[in-house]
Amino acid sequence: LFAKECDFFWGAEAATTLPEAVLPEICFAGRSNVGKSSLVNALTGRKTLARTSQTPGRTQQLNFFNLGNRLVMVDMPGYGYAQVSKERSAAWVDFIKSYLRGRVTLKRALVLVDARHGLKPHDVDMMKMMDQTAVGYQIVLTKADTLKPGAIDKIRAQVAVALKTHGAAHPEVLATSAETGLGIPELRGFLTRMAEP
Ligand code: GDP
Repeated sequence: LFAKECDFFWGAEAATTLPEAVLPEICFAGRSNVGKSSLVNALTGRKTLARTSQTPGRTQQLNFFNLGNRLVMVDMPGYGYAQVSKERSAAWVDFIKSYLRGRVTLKRALVLVDARHGLKPHDVDMMKMMDQTAVGYQIVLTKADTLKPGAIDKIRAQVAVALKTHGAAHPEVLATSAETGLGIPELRGFLTRMAEP
C-alpha cells in the first residue's frame, strides 16, 4: 500500500463540499505542531502534507489524500487555534461533528498527541467529540524519540488510564517518531488492515 502514490485530491470547508464517500477512510487529528505532517510524510515517504500545514489560510479545511486508490487519509487541521474567531470556530466544530457523525466510510480516527506533553485539554475536547459522534479512535504518541523508553512507558500508561473514561477510545496507544521511524511499520500495518475490504 505504501509503495503506491499518495495524492491530495480534495479540500472541504463545509459539510456540503465533502467528497463522495467511497474508499475506507482514516482521519488524523491533532493540535497544531503535534508532528502530524512529519508523521504522515514518514508513513508515505512523501511530502504530502507539508504544503497544507504551512499555509495558514488552508488550515481550516479537511484535506483528503488518496493512498493507492485503496484508502483515504484525512488531515484534520490542528485544533486549538487561539486566533480563530468564536463564530468561525463554532462553525468549524459543527462541520467536524457532522463529518465524524455522518461519514459512513470513516473507519477510525487517530488522535495524535505529543509524547512530551501528554493529553492536553484540546486533545480531550477532540476525544469527547469523537465519543459523542461514536467514532472509534486511538491515540498515537508523536516525537517519542525525545523521551527515554521509561518515560514513554509512563506516558503511555497515563494515557491508557485516561482512555478508560472515553467510550469510543480503543485501548492501544502507539508510540511513534518521524525522526527515528519508531512505530512507523506498525502504523503502516494498521492502515493496510484498515484498507482491506
Ligand atoms: P504539524 O503542525 O502537526 O503538521 O507538525 P509538523 O510535522 O510540522 O512538526 C512540528 C515540529 O515538530 C517541527 O519542528 C518538526 O521538526 C518537529 N517534529 C515532528 N515530528 C517529530 C519527531 O518525530 N521527533 C522530533 N524530535 N521532532 C519532530
